[in-house]
Amino acid sequence: MLADVRTRIERACAVASRDPRGVTLVAVTKGRSPDEVRRALLDLGHRVLGENRVQEWRPKAAALGDDVAWHLVGHLQTNKVRYCAPFALIHSLDSERLADALEAEGAKRGHVHRVLVQVNVAGEASKQGVAPAEVPDLVRHVASLDHVRLEGLMTIAPFEPDPERARPVFRGLRDLADRYAEGRTSMGMSGDLEVAIEEGATWVRVGRALFEPAGGPADGGAGWT
Ligand SMILES: *Cc1c(COP(=O)(O)O)cnc(C)c1O
Repeated sequence: MLADVRTRIERACAVASRDPRGVTLVAVTKGRSPDEVRRALLDLGHRVLGENRVQEWRPKAAALGDDVAWHLVGHLQTNKVRYCAPFALIHSLDSERLADALEAEGAKRGHVHRVLVQVNVAGEASKQGVAPAEVPDLVRHVASLDHVRLEGLMTIAPFEPDPERARPVFRGLRDLADRYAEGRTSMGMSGDLEVAIEEGATWVRVGRALFEPAGGPADGGAGWT
């Protein structure tokens, strides 16, 4: 539920002595119908939504109207960049080739795409994202483009029941972001948003916890004790 997630964010900010206004909640709506999204989020005044797939996002965005700031949090293929101008932020830039495709598309329509570089901090074979060692080159490349603007770095932590296990991953991303992206990071999901906020997250991407009752398995384990 939105109220529970907001409470969790506020508490984590209090623990970390951070201003809650420095953390943006991106509500990930993958797999949820427009009606569910309206009831759980829009009717309660939340307007920052995330989607994984361009194919799923297009009809949903059309159904939900213009008063939404959409973020793309999932992998982006170069053949889909022509649909991407409406995104307030693309969290998943992971190659020079994709950056170049966004640049060409942005130049054509006079639009600057705001992006995060996705980093595979944990080195998981199954995850998208560049290796930490590749971050400087990709950041430098983006800086050379006129229609793609770097806003920070993003990572997906390995799935672990214990959110503390994500801390080194989040800290690793934050260290990279401090060097290359003004400390701005997209990290933390339903199970580990508190740890991400303690490690400095600028955006948290939360799905399940917004659509399930508080105390469920997505609630950072708090419901298990
Ligand atoms: C689904 C998803 C989320 C949200 O995950 P939850 O565990 O449902 O909170 C965040 N980021 C990405 C990239 C996702 O695909």
